[in-house]
Amino acid sequence: MTEGRRRIAYVFPIYNEEGNIPLLYQRLVAATAPLADRYDLEFVFVDDGSRDGSLALLRGLRAQDDRVSVYALARNYGHQVAVTAGLDVADADAVIVMDSDLQDPPEVSLELVARWEDGVDVAYAQRRTRDDGLFKRATAHGFYWLLSRLSSVEIPRDTGDFRLMDRRVVEELRRHPERNRFIRGLVASIGFRQEAVLFDRDARHAGETGYPLRKMLKLAGDGIFGFSTAPLKLISRVGGTMAVLALLWTIYLVVARLVNPESVIEGWTYLAAGMFLLGGIQMLMLGVLGSYLGRIYVEVQGRPLYAFSVAERGPRAD
Ligand code: UDP
Ligand code: MG
Repeated sequence: MTEGRRRIAYVFPIYNEEGNIPLLYQRLVAATAPLADRYDLEFVFVDDGSRDGSLALLRGLRAQDDRVSVYALARNYGHQVAVTAGLDVADADAVIVMDSDLQDPPEVSLELVARWEDGVDVAYAQRRTRDDGLFKRATAHGFYWLLSRLSSVEIPRDTGDFRLMDRRVVEELRRHPERNRFIRGLVASIGFRQEAVLFDRDARHAGETGYPLRKMLKLAGDGIFGFSTAPLKLISRVGGTMAVLALLWTIYLVVARLVNPESVIEGWTYLAAGMFLLGGIQMLMLGVLGSYLGRIYVEVQGRPLYAFSVAERGPRAD
């Protein structure tokens, strides 16, 4: 390590990637060679409870290259937690997060670094094209559409966690204690200068996805519920509409009966009107509970209220 040089850390979450680790390392070293003369590099591998030979392979890499750091989580905690662990241990001026299946080409990280050198705090890689199956593309499209409609912060579409973050962004991220993490949303909500770098996403090199439908739905839930209380507000909307319609109907029934007592309306009609009215009011009340719940939820997330991008005070050094 050379004194005074800036540091760049790469963070790789690893879950059963034994078929990818050798090539990943090889391409990473080749791609980052131009960076190595300017920066101190660290390659942080976080093994997320792999059941294959990943950890042994990683230790093998560390034995020959001490820029490689190896951490193994005690069990499979999931991708977002593995990335969080990597960001927590990385001590660098810029941190690059990448998938380990070579879907995110290591060569693209150089473009991210170039943006960072131009003063961008978050350079996120955005997919120009993606080499995934139809199902994955369709669900991802639907998810980002819904998320952009519901979310209170603008979360860029077609991005994964492949991105470079300046140290100050990583430090802000550490101030977010929430447990159901949707990292790309948190980064978007923090602020600073954020810019997209377009790239073509490759197909997974070897092995199979660590994101079966169950984990995909969990991540989608963390994105939507973590950044929107719209589903809660839906309750009071539905309840309100139902109550108003039922009230109008009740008024109509009463007036009709008064104006023309002959218009005999069967007893069950009143019963039905009363039922809808009561049902609507109940849902409206649930919505009131929901509003409090939504506020409690936001409080419990405990996100910082703000982040400074400039903080200057006291006697100037110059
Ligand atoms: N991953 C992880 N823990 C998991 C699932 C996945 O650390 O429980 C890692 C995986 O090794 C890869 C990244 O997260 O580096 C993205 O996963 P994957 O490629 O399987 O997801 P997909 O690209 O299919 O969405
Ligand atoms: Mg992948």
